[in-house]
Amino acid sequence: MPGSFHKVACPDCDNEQIVFGKAASTVACAVCGHTLAEPTGGEAILEGEVVETVEAR
Ligand SMILES: [Zn+2]
Repeated sequence: MPGSFHKVACPDCDNEQIVFGKAASTVACAVCGHTLAEPTGGEAILEGEVVETVEAR
């Protein structure tokens, strides 16, 4: 499984940011710092709304 990328909309400021689906560290919104993804060791938990998913090739 190569993993995939998700475009996540920040729930606080509507910034859209690309997050790796298997992020190994916490991903914060670049604009307001809200946590967008929490690492779990597998698929990260995404906190915002997923706008789009792009599969890695
Ligand atoms: Zn934000």
